[in-house]
Amino acid sequence: MSISTKNLIKELKKDLTADNVLSTKEECYAYAQDASNSRIITNIPDAVVFVRSTSDVVDVVKKAKKYKTPIICRGAGTNTVGACRVEHGGIILNFSKMNKIIEINKKNMTATVQPGVVLGDLLTEIEKSGLFYPPDPSNLKVSTIGGSIAQASGGAKTFKYGSTKNYILNLEIVTANGEIIKTGSDTVKNATGYNLTSLFVGSEGTLGIITEAVLKLIPKPEAAEVMMAYFDTVEDAVKAVDMIIDQKIMPATIDFMDKNAINTVEKFYPAGLLCDKDAALVIEIDGMAESIIYQQKIIENILNKCGASAIQVSHNQEEYERIWMARRSSMGACAKLKPNVTTDDVIVPRQNLAKLVHGIREICDKYNLDTCLVGHVGDGSVHPQIPIDYRNEDEYKRFKMAKAEIYDLTAALGGIISGEHGIGADKRQYISKVISKTTLDYMREIKKVFDPDNILNPYKIF
Ligand SMILES: Cc1cc2nc3c(=O)[nH]c(=O)nc-3n(C[C@H](O)[C@H](O)[C@H](O)COP(=O)(O)OP(=O)(O)OC[C@H]3O[C@@H](n4cnc5c(N)ncnc54)[C@H](O)[C@@H]3O)c2cc1C
Repeated sequence: MSISTKNLIKELKKDLTADNVLSTKEECYAYAQDASNSRIITNIPDAVVFVRSTSDVVDVVKKAKKYKTPIICRGAGTNTVGACRVEHGGIILNFSKMNKIIEINKKNMTATVQPGVVLGDLLTEIEKSGLFYPPDPSNLKVSTIGGSIAQASGGAKTFKYGSTKNYILNLEIVTANGEIIKTGSDTVKNATGYNLTSLFVGSEGTLGIITEAVLKLIPKPEAAEVMMAYFDTVEDAVKAVDMIIDQKIMPATIDFMDKNAINTVEKFYPAGLLCDKDAALVIEIDGMAESIIYQQKIIENILNKCGASAIQVSHNQEEYERIWMARRSSMGACAKLKPNVTTDDVIVPRQNLAKLVHGIREICDKYNLDTCLVGHVGDGSVHPQIPIDYRNEDEYKRFKMAKAEIYDLTAALGGIISGEHGIGADKRQYISKVISKTTLDYMREIKKVFDPDNILNPYKIF
């Protein structure tokens, strides 16, 4: 550790008190990894700082600027792309002490929150007031609102309701100079100046530090029901989705599991799934209670026309949870196949989804890799979950080659390499497959404007 970093830590301990600054090797090691599950840990942070307020953040940033030390923000560390891995030394900013829900304003339909609030806790509080914040990454019981804003998280309900990008009205940001700015307004509309809010959502902690967020809320749908159905081919499943939308029904969720995902879940978490089918759809409908039965009948009719088997409908909360459990268990089941498991989030226009699914299977077969495919058919995204043994050098090489080909395929099908997980460190080498050099150069210029010394999560994204 350099003398200047040692001095920085000394100053931080003095100003923020020693119990808010971790600096032993053992303590820092715990923050070296995130859910990207990187193969080798090569760098650990120099310190981990627990901030309690915006003024703490300003204080840390000014000191880090003085010593030119990187700052890497960290919520719950559940991003899957190495977005909060420390690659060039520096301090981790931990937001677990900035976890207040400042206000849920029923009249304005907004929530004002600190970044460290756990998303699941926030949704529970919001729903108590009859309102709804739709973005629902499936690990919302642990991930934070700050992390999900910084990664532009999506979730199962993106198809109908949009993702985090569509629900952030205003952010309080501490800039790399230690200034405090607001990016928008607390109003539903805003045509005043550039849309800085949108720029910061998905910026992965590289442009500024989120210290407060104002979220847009909507009325909570009165009722919801989930259906599961199996198909002989992926094409039949996608056709059913197109027909449902043709009938002007917009399900809250249309999720997908392929044969491997169905079989793997059934192997480890038996739920009576039909293992001889090529694909299954999990469809959630919501709205006024009276509309549910109407939507359900039309959808059932369409599913039958598309050759669906064993259509299940939830009639109560227990059945609702049981159906969702099968879809949500996929990653956990896949993790039991090998010591490690990886996931991804490629997305294409929905018309190309079946081609993407078949293409990914072919690529994984070619490289002799297992893959469980789940995804959100409604929005065209696929999560290839690939179990792998990192100790097996040859398998790791095949995995890397398969990844690159999956991104080439996605680009060829008019898609993009991340729909919701972000780019971080792990996918930055591939970003030029889908974003032109000129566009990336503009992004780099934006980074320089907000962070001229390159201290905020340096070298992530590109
Ligand atoms: C099992 C599993 C399931 C998942 N399912 C989904 C899913 O369905 N949909 C989906 O979209 N994602 C999903 N993810 C990814 C993950 O949920 C999101 O990336 C998540 O929202 C990140 O939140 P976090 O608090 O863990 O952030 P972290 O991982 O700690 O950080 C993520 C990024 O945010 C930055 N950051 C954190 N706080 C701040 C701040 N205050 N200011 C500025 N930058 C900040 C970090 O520097 C980093 O770049 C899943 C992940 C796992 C492990």
